[in-house]
Amino acid sequence: MYVRIHEADYTIKKEIKIIMNYKELSELIYPSLEHAPEEYEAIYPPRDLPEGAMVTRLGPSPTGFIHLGNLYGAFVDERLAHQSGGTFFLRIEDTDDKRYVENAVETIIGSLDFFGIRFDEGVTGTGDIGNYGDYTQSHRGEIYRTYAKKLLSEGRAYPCFLTEEEISAIREKQESEKIAPGIYAGWSKYRDWDKNEAVEAEVVSKIKAGEPFVIRLKSNGAPNASAEETSRHTVNDAIRGELSVPDNFLDVVIIKQTGIPTYHFAHVVDDHLMRTTHVVRGEEWLPSLPIHVELFEDLGWDLPVYCHTAQLMKIGEDGNKRKLSKRKDPELSLDFYRNEGYHPAAVREYLLTILNSNYEEWRIENPDAPAEDFRFTTEKMSSSGALFDLDKLNDVSKNTLLHIDAHELAAWLKSWSDEFAPEYGYMFADMDHLADILDLGRHDARPRADLVYAKQIMDFISYFFDESFEIKDEYPAEAAADAEDILRAYLDSYDHSDDNGQWFDKIREIAVSMGYAAKPKDFKKHPEDYKGHVGHVSTVIRIALMGRAQSPDVWAIQQIMGEEKVRARLQAALQ
Ligand code: GLU
Repeated sequence: MYVRIHEADYTIKKEIKIIMNYKELSELIYPSLEHAPEEYEAIYPPRDLPEGAMVTRLGPSPTGFIHLGNLYGAFVDERLAHQSGGTFFLRIEDTDDKRYVENAVETIIGSLDFFGIRFDEGVTGTGDIGNYGDYTQSHRGEIYRTYAKKLLSEGRAYPCFLTEEEISAIREKQESEKIAPGIYAGWSKYRDWDKNEAVEAEVVSKIKAGEPFVIRLKSNGAPNASAEETSRHTVNDAIRGELSVPDNFLDVVIIKQTGIPTYHFAHVVDDHLMRTTHVVRGEEWLPSLPIHVELFEDLGWDLPVYCHTAQLMKIGEDGNKRKLSKRKDPELSLDFYRNEGYHPAAVREYLLTILNSNYEEWRIENPDAPAEDFRFTTEKMSSSGALFDLDKLNDVSKNTLLHIDAHELAAWLKSWSDEFAPEYGYMFADMDHLADILDLGRHDARPRADLVYAKQIMDFISYFFDESFEIKDEYPAEAAADAEDILRAYLDSYDHSDDNGQWFDKIREIAVSMGYAAKPKDFKKHPEDYKGHVGHVSTVIRIALMGRAQSPDVWAIQQIMGEEKVRARLQAALQ
């Protein structure tokens, strides 16, 4: 009887006899690619930039969570590129598709832009800019395949069909034998497919049958070498100095089953083709540096200069340094700063103080210079953990805001309120009035630095507005019994055109006439002679007008409030 041989079976039988070489296998896996590797070298030629110009990139994953660490790294990138006349670009690293969040790219660009981080090139809200794209990794599949094919064709990579169960079993065995975990020489039979006809046949038939596989690097490293025997590479890290990097020996995955590259492979291919000169990234990547060194070497490319930044740390509740955590520390999220209304200039200024140990000194010598004038260097960065401290940020912010013109500050507060806190809308009805309020005490010989961040400012100035005025503090005990008499006398003598000196003389008169010392020190010396002192009397007035015992200069506040409001508040306190 005539038996029809299934076409696939027939091919397999035929293939068994053929000893494939590396090139043929690479053709079988990737039969039709648009360009040869050399062509990409020509499409993305070395950049035409002045000597010493640095090319940096930020490669966030579109997870929707952009944090202070990203901003910290972005600052390093931005400063290095822009100080040197180079280029800073944004590349979206979306090779881990599970983590993708809708609109994340817009969020990333928006958040960084808010803090003054501007890219010259790369992904933007309206398409890519620049000649080295596409700048989204998921669009670069063809390029990664081209280089994976090159490694396959040179016998530097191989397809691996190990299943998850097989890999777990390998890991268990390695654990029980107390040897290095992972897939490396001796652990995947597919590594040496070309030396075993049966494996070769399996590989070929599986590829043809469309079975899933990953592509692994065929590492040159010796897996069982002792620490002393391992050959080492010297890698110059711009932050950490010379690093002695051991040989990689792991057959790491370079292309996942989905056809998407791993971080390792995408990093090497992209940073080469995009001609990145300085790779700024977190120190969590240091352990994989050996892999990257081997990949760069295998592809015949020069290493970029690495800048591995230190983790952001804080002093925890127990007084010990610990990493900032997404769960415990809201201040890790950049949204925190926007929601609270930290001015971007303050956050920038603060980050510079933790980025470079000599920044504060420079700032003291150059109080009015733009931060961009500071010469940022990687050598002055900490390699052991950058300490983040919210109180310090607040201090820095107070000073930074002092340097921002009151009208500008008012406009900025409005834009913050429009976006994050519309409930404060009533404060922006008269922008000149708001600017006067914000400017209170800021031009004194020792300027008041009361303003920290938008939410705090809204609260700090809330007493100016009837909508939010409330009596928060109590009259001082020394003068509480006389409060009504004090306020009545004050109201009767009130003349809005009095200057600061005349105004205070009147308060002193009221105080003395009612049995209070004209000066606090007189009261301190002879407390038995007085009910209290002039400060207690003025505090009563302050509380009636501002609702609180602490505030900037009362006379100056009255001038801004206007006579009508001053009288109305005093009247109200008398009822
Ligand atoms: N996508 C990587 C991350 O989010 C970037 C690391 C790098 O800059 O190389 O951690």
